[in-house]
Amino acid sequence: AMENARLITETREALEQQTATAEVLGVINSSPGDLAPVFDAILAKAHSLCGVASGTFLLYDGEFFRVAAVRGLPEALAESIGQPFRLSPGSPQERLARGERFVHAPTTAFADTRIGRAVVDAGFNVLLMLPLRRDDALLGYITAVRREARPFSDKQIALLESFAAQAVIAMENARLLGELRERTAELGRSVEELKLLSEVGQAVSSTLDLRSVLSTVLTRSVAMTGADAGAVFRHRRADRAFHLVEAVGWSKALLQSVRDLRVPESESAMGEAAAKRLPIQLADVSRRSSYPMRDATLAAGFRAALIVPLVGPERVLGALILMRRAAGEFPPETVRLMQTLASQSVLAIQNARLFRELAEKSEELELASQHKSQFLANMSHELRTPLNAILGYAELLVDGIYGEMPEKPKGVLERIQNNGRHLLALINDVLDLAKIEAGQLTLSLEDYSVPELVRSVVTATEPLAAAKGLKFAALLPDEMPTAHGDARRISQVLLNLVGNAIKFTDAGEVEIGAAVADGHFTLTVRDTGPGIAEADRERIFGEFQQIDNSNTRRQGGTGLGLAISKRMVEMQGGTIAVESALGEGSTFRVTLPVHVEERMEAAA
Ligand code: ADP
Repeated sequence: AMENARLITETREALEQQTATAEVLGVINSSPGDLAPVFDAILAKAHSLCGVASGTFLLYDGEFFRVAAVRGLPEALAESIGQPFRLSPGSPQERLARGERFVHAPTTAFADTRIGRAVVDAGFNVLLMLPLRRDDALLGYITAVRREARPFSDKQIALLESFAAQAVIAMENARLLGELRERTAELGRSVEELKLLSEVGQAVSSTLDLRSVLSTVLTRSVAMTGADAGAVFRHRRADRAFHLVEAVGWSKALLQSVRDLRVPESESAMGEAAAKRLPIQLADVSRRSSYPMRDATLAAGFRAALIVPLVGPERVLGALILMRRAAGEFPPETVRLMQTLASQSVLAIQNARLFRELAEKSEELELASQHKSQFLANMSHELRTPLNAILGYAELLVDGIYGEMPEKPKGVLERIQNNGRHLLALINDVLDLAKIEAGQLTLSLEDYSVPELVRSVVTATEPLAAAKGLKFAALLPDEMPTAHGDARRISQVLLNLVGNAIKFTDAGEVEIGAAVADGHFTLTVRDTGPGIAEADRERIFGEFQQIDNSNTRRQGGTGLGLAISKRMVEMQGGTIAVESALGEGSTFRVTLPVHVEERMEAAA
């Protein structure tokens, strides 16, 4: 029966001990980051297991002992233990440090030490001190003290000893848990940072508006780093100084005093950071010597600043600044984040500059091109007048107005006339093109009949087709609505297409077609000529573009006809395209609105 009773007691005690440990772990879990309640719980449980009311729990970092928890001690004693202390010779702590399992002694044994004296003075008679060890290192200790001059029982010692071992595990767990929480928080922060960086990256690549990029960088970084304010400055080479671009969290007064301030690179933290190409921490702005920027910052209530230089490959571009009301350095992860953001900002600044340069160049080019068109338009006009005179006099000569011409000079005169006409056609083309380019060609809109227009082109070109022995036909639908547009220009386009078809086709046929659908009509010119290779189909609509082969060279021409046709069609809201297979012929297709709107002119 005795044996049984002992077993039952032991089991109950073991159970109690386990519950105590579990309770301590529970406290650890519910008090994130803060270990004070954990230490209180450890000491309270240890004491309750062996029925003690007073004692302490101290931690040791290898140099100092510091109180973690105190129970049932008078104020004065608690206070004297409250001061961190070192290992002193002859103290019980020294015995634990030497490796003793525990110290169990009358308190008078340590009356020579400061704390020992205080314990005796407080009326405690017996001390039990148990080490907390990991491997061989002393992490701290738990004490139980009592006024009654009776030693602790072996059972009490054993209980406290085994709980001390558990406490070490609990502390270790708490430490790991704390670290885990910190890592999780860090991870959360890095996710936030990544989000911010991608947001800024997007701003950099999607907008060329530098201000909006810099203000995104600034607002988000102030918000993320918990700073109170921030600013971006740009560096101007002309006066070797920094000038405010954007600010977040600034008072009106600060904004006003810094807005027109020139912060010289020679006497500012920004200049220093730029010269070193590294961030600078101003843990306490008031410690710096007095400069306008420093004084304004202090007056606005900011004490600390982080200055990150914006440095491009060739030069200093500016600086990014974070400000805080509380003095002290910014944490390293903030510095790292700001450096990344700074390099993103540098990218944005460079993009914006490149874009500005590009826009300027385009503007210059545009102007040059306008001058060229203007010049061509004027020149063509000046060339036409004397050329018309030459052609006119040549005609008069050929017609015998100045007396009958002998055959030989007459032949020469005819060659002059042919070449003159060719030159005139060329000048007219160039003039058309130049006028279109200079925006001087205006449409004259009128009602017209498509079939009539086609027939007039047929009449004009029939003799050319007949001369080459080509079959020549126009296929027109019975009914066609009256069209509205620049009939003269459309007929010029059709003449050009039919002219080309006849010019390049040596055998077979040329056929003109017309059709209406969906408010548009289509004019087609089909031939059985050489056809146009895929690679040339776009190109021939460009100015002075001809297919490079002997056929084209033999036919002559300027390479301007299709370019002019395309512009004239597009001016009226239409399109022109070609379908072709080499060796089988080509079909040019012009599509135009039945009613050309007035506004098309403006578009040209
Ligand atoms: P040009 O006829 O004065 O050379 P165009 O601009 O009218 O100028 O035509 C450009 C080039 O397109 C021509 O030189 C010729 O190489 C090609 N081309 C135009 N129409 C045809 C066609 N119907 N068949 C084959 N090639 C053509």
